[in-house]
Amino acid sequence: MHIKKSLLLPLMLFSTAILYAQEQRKVVYIIADGISADVIEQAQTPNLREISTQGSYLRVYQGGEAGAYNESPTISAVGYNNILTGVWYNKHNVPDNNIEAPNYHYPSIFRVLKDAYPEKTIGIFSSWQDNRTKLIGEGLPATGNIQMDYAFDGLELDTLRYPHDKERQFMSVIDQAVSENAAKTIQEEGPDLSWVYLEFTDDMGHMHGDSPAYSAAVEKMDAQVGLIWQAIKKRAADTGEDWMIMITTDHGRDEKTGKGHGGQTFRQRSAWLVCNKVLENPYSRYGKPSVVDLYPTIANFLNIEIPKESLWELDGVTLMDDIAIAHPQAYYFQEQLDISWTALDDNGEVNIWISTTNNKKTGGSDHYQHIGAFPLRDKHAVIPVKDYPSDFYKVVLETEKNTVNRWIVNDSH
Ligand SMILES: [Zn+2]
Repeated sequence: MHIKKSLLLPLMLFSTAILYAQEQRKVVYIIADGISADVIEQAQTPNLREISTQGSYLRVYQGGEAGAYNESPTISAVGYNNILTGVWYNKHNVPDNNIEAPNYHYPSIFRVLKDAYPEKTIGIFSSWQDNRTKLIGEGLPATGNIQMDYAFDGLELDTLRYPHDKERQFMSVIDQAVSENAAKTIQEEGPDLSWVYLEFTDDMGHMHGDSPAYSAAVEKMDAQVGLIWQAIKKRAADTGEDWMIMITTDHGRDEKTGKGHGGQTFRQRSAWLVCNKVLENPYSRYGKPSVVDLYPTIANFLNIEIPKESLWELDGVTLMDDIAIAHPQAYYFQEQLDISWTALDDNGEVNIWISTTNNKKTGGSDHYQHIGAFPLRDKHAVIPVKDYPSDFYKVVLETEKNTVNRWIVNDSH
């Protein structure tokens, strides 16, 4: 197409302005450990309330889907990694707090940011060092030797400065130091993407269960979030940057006492998301959001283009922006696949792709076959797979607006 020069110049200026605005966008997400939605909704949390009043409060779930191939233990490091990678345990391969063999072929949100924008800066402020060294995998060949630009963690290993008392009050002191450092670094340096991790709430949950001590820890956490929120507000006012803060949790607590977690009951799976941005689209309104939705939402806000081989594996759906499809389902029967979805748009098509390989697991590419295009509003399709016999299928449902996927694992046939 031929465009006259006189038209081109204003167009270029316009796109430069958009790019400039996007460069000014920054994100910090905070994980406060082990707080179910019923707890956060009843606690005295003036800072979280101020943030969600400006933006959104959503109930979300942890734990994958109970009983499905992506069920994920409601254990801390699993929960952090669901958020960090945007996929469930069956893909990221962190089933517990030992973090023995994380599958880094599912790139962290920090990695996709750095791959897209090497000049952007990333930070972690954490009451548990493994979040940086094992989950993000700083400096490991398997993570492309990713380096954090700002890191403040490992205080829990310094037993001289932070002696481990029986009541675990040292963790509250560490959370406070982590929050203060996060607030200072955010205000002074403004990293483009940061993760803050606070632990003390879970410690009080384990020790005392649902109790005044646990509630007090939740309120302390709110005050620590407040330090970071004040720093963000000040920096945004000073610089004109557009900041998004998200606060969430890694799992809930057991129904009976609140002391335990790890299982798949409603309250252990119960989580929540507070955000200063209005998270509103058909999915956040009518769908069933979960913690893996943070990743595509952050990517969306920071304008990160996720490479196709990772995008087609993401288990989350963005909570902002226009989308068309969510909640994919796929079942095998007699050489056919029964596929269904929730349509969040009346128009458009769904392109269905299937793969019987899982090369992504080892860093390779999968061979997707295009099965056909179906009206989005149909919300279902039955497709023959006689030509692709397998015990394993990856099903990708691609629309113009967003793409979702589903696995069929160990189906009996
Ligand atoms: Zn936890």
